[in-house]
Amino acid sequence: MAASKCNVTRLTEALSRQLLDSVDSVLFDCDGVIWRGDQAIPGASEVINSLKKNGKRVFFVTNNSTKTRQMYADKLGKLGFDASADEVFGTAYCSAVYLKNVCKLDGKVYLIGSNAMRQELEDVGIRPVGVGPDPISGGQKDWANVPLDNEVRAVLVGFDEHFSYMKLNRALQYLCNPDCQFVGTNTDTRLPLEGGKAVPGTGCLLKAVETAAQRQAQVVGKPSSFMFECVASQFGLDPERCLMVGDRLDTDIMLGSNCGLKTLLTLTGVSTVAEAEANQKSECPQRQKMVPDYYIESIADILPALQA
Ligand code: PLP
Ligand code: CA
Repeated sequence: MAASKCNVTRLTEALSRQLLDSVDSVLFDCDGVIWRGDQAIPGASEVINSLKKNGKRVFFVTNNSTKTRQMYADKLGKLGFDASADEVFGTAYCSAVYLKNVCKLDGKVYLIGSNAMRQELEDVGIRPVGVGPDPISGGQKDWANVPLDNEVRAVLVGFDEHFSYMKLNRALQYLCNPDCQFVGTNTDTRLPLEGGKAVPGTGCLLKAVETAAQRQAQVVGKPSSFMFECVASQFGLDPERCLMVGDRLDTDIMLGSNCGLKTLLTLTGVSTVAEAEANQKSECPQRQKMVPDYYIESIADILPALQA
C-alpha cells in the first residue's frame, strides 16, 4: 500500500513552477479542463499558449469519440488555443489506430458510432459499415438472420445517437463469431451537463453490447494506457517527464497512474477533492491509482507561474 498522507496537495504558485520544471510535455483532458461544452474555461487558452511559448509540448487527450482530430483542431482554434490536429488524441482517431496497429485488422468494421469515427477509420484505410440509422427500422421478425456483411472482422462501439435494438442485434450476430474482434472507444457512463443535468455516455452503449454478446470489449480510451502509448510512440515521450491534467479521477488520473505520469486534478469538471481524499484513505490498490499528485481549482491558476 502507498504511504498514507492526510491530504491531497494543493498546487501553489511555487509548486507549479517546480512541477512545470520537472516536465517537458503536458497532456490535457478536454471537457471539464480546457472547456465545458462549447465554452472555454476562462484563462485556459492563455495557459496552453504560454506553455508552448515556454517550450513545452502540449497534447489534447479526450474520450469523446464524436469529432475527428481536425474537428477538434478547428474547435480549439475558434476558442483561442494554439493547437494543431496532430496534437489531438481523441478516441475516434485512437480507436482507428488501435484497430490498424494492435488488432492488425484485415477486413471491415461494423461501426456503432459517428461520421467522425467513420472518417478516422477511412483515413487509416479501414472500411466501416453501419454508421447512421440502421436500414431496417421495423417489421423485422427474424432477428437472428438479419443480413450481415461477410467481410466484417471487428465491431467498434463509440458514441452513436442512432443506437437501436437492431444495431445491438447486429453487433451480437457479428460477435457470435469468436474471431470477430471487439473494441470500445471508452466507458464513460454519464456526460455531465450544466445545472447538475446529465445524458447517457458511450459506456451505456458499450455495456449493452457486452451484455448481449457475453464478451468484454478491448477499451481504447482513458484510463487505458493505449491513449498515452499512442501519443508517446508518435512523439517519443518519456512518461516521467509528462504531466496529465484532468477533471476525472477514474479516467484521467487513473491513466496517469497507469502510465507513470505526474497527475494534476482540476476542479472545473466532474471529480472533487473529497473523492480524491477518500480514495487516498482507502486501502484498495485501484482506488490508490485515483489519487492525483496535486489539485488546483482551475487550470487558469497556473498562469502566474508561467508568467513569472
Ligand atoms: N464522450 C462524449 C460523447 C462526450 O461528449 C464527452 C464530453 O463532452 C466525453 C466523452 C468526455 O470527454 P473528455 O475525455 O474530454 O472529458
Ligand atoms: Ca473530462
